[in-house]
Amino acid sequence: QAVVHWFKMDLRLHDNRALWLASQKAKEAGVPLICLYVLSPEDLEAHLRAPIRVDFMLRTLEILKKDLAALNIPLWIETVPKRKEVPQRIKQLMHEWGASHLFCNMEYEVDELRREAKLVRLLASASGDDDTPKMAAEVLHDTCIVAPGALKSSSGRQYSVYAPWFRSWLRYVEENPDCLEISPPPLPNPPSTVRQGGKLAHLFGCPIPPAPEGKQLRDDDEKVRFRALWPAGEHEALKRLNKFWGTSKLSVHFAAGTLSARTAVRAARERNRTKRLNGGDEGIQRWVGEVAWREFYRHVVVNWPYVCMNKPHHPPLSSIPWSYSPSHLSLWTLGLTGYPLIDASMRCLLTTGYLHNRLRMVVASFLSKDLLLDWRLGEQYFMLHLIDGDFASNNGGWGWAASVGADAQPWFRVFNPVRQRGKGREGGVIHDPWGRGDEKVRRKLEERGYPRMMVDHAEARRRAIEEYRRGLARD
Ligand code: FAD
Repeated sequence: QAVVHWFKMDLRLHDNRALWLASQKAKEAGVPLICLYVLSPEDLEAHLRAPIRVDFMLRTLEILKKDLAALNIPLWIETVPKRKEVPQRIKQLMHEWGASHLFCNMEYEVDELRREAKLVRLLASASGDDDTPKMAAEVLHDTCIVAPGALKSSSGRQYSVYAPWFRSWLRYVEENPDCLEISPPPLPNPPSTVRQGGKLAHLFGCPIPPAPEGKQLRDDDEKVRFRALWPAGEHEALKRLNKFWGTSKLSVHFAAGTLSARTAVRAARERNRTKRLNGGDEGIQRWVGEVAWREFYRHVVVNWPYVCMNKPHHPPLSSIPWSYSPSHLSLWTLGLTGYPLIDASMRCLLTTGYLHNRLRMVVASFLSKDLLLDWRLGEQYFMLHLIDGDFASNNGGWGWAASVGADAQPWFRVFNPVRQRGKGREGGVIHDPWGRGDEKVRRKLEERGYPRMMVDHAEARRRAIEEYRRGLARD
């Protein structure tokens, strides 16, 4: 007999709801807790997981395995090539381990919800005779502070605009303090139940697999750089949470689940002089608002699941005649547009796996409006390169920049890739070398092969506004 916790995007021991409940269940039943992680190469491919994100996840699993072993809890990593076989394989493993209960945290994308529904049905169908013990799965809300579906407008609808949603979210959190309650880490397994030659002892020897084909980092140089930039694991997440100032660079930890939104928001509340979420320190309130954006986009995915199927949240704009020009796309991806801010941003993304939010907005606006390239090409490219690639936030961010998403920027607003730079004359010349730079600057750039601007922004802006106007009129 045993209880299983299935880790997914919740790679932490602290404040993990399903893990804590699994641990309690195991203790009550006097049986061991086994942790499971399923690596499905096909799933990584389908979700366009970036190699840098896969590397972060594998490094985190290594840390998690050690931390769990210290509690006498094994972490078994199972590779299942085909994603549709995951539920069946989990059932087989539970059968092998004599496990009766499985706990996991919910993921809200359509494919994941279907997979979990299949697993629940499959386990419920276990007969309970001698050969197959009775089995059950519990799938819990964990990744959001307020579970999707809990907030409704006065007319009973789901919110598609952030500001009223956020006010309602704040009210809900104040009125329901238990939604910020933190679960303790799991209880240790008594050594006698798992180790000491027991039949589950071999689970402790499970190796961390290498990254699957196509998801490996390119070379040692990348390994060294990315590992120094992005130390993995929940200890690192908590360290960063306690010392950041301004932008936190915690998105990588939220995406891997090495940090829970509850822990983050509670820490912010503690730091606020009012000890509340609203009022007090403006910077803290703003930061809580950022974390809430992540949650808003998760609610959008649940309420309008067609966004998981390549559809814009705002259907009237689906008829814009997007461009698919391979040469334009590659100039954008390689940072060769001739606009220094766009190019530096795209090169930063390739070198570090990360980009500041403002720059994500600027490059996304450039792709979808200046170049009129299908925003989904940019969305996919981001997923393939971001260390914090997260479907809901990425889809929401692209929907925002291309004006096709929930509470997007107005369709007639087009970021100016020169004026979005920082202030100062020097900055002006650097960001607008072909316009404001003098002959010397231009010659230097030409010598180094830096390209001319691939489109004229003023013209591109006019064209974009015209196409959006026509698109809206067609629908
Ligand atoms: P902080 O400013 O410290 O904010 C704290 C946390 O709040 C972040 O870690 C993040 O979890 C959340 N957050 C902040 N801003 C946003 C936002 N606009 N939308 C959703 N959540 C937010 N974020 C991802 O986590 N994964 C993505 O794949 C992703 N893709 C994006 C694509 C585009 C085109 C845009 C415009 C934004 C995208 N974002 C994405 C949102 C945002 O850019 C990052 O979350 C943020 O830059 C992360 O940096 P930080 O941790 O320092 O943020």
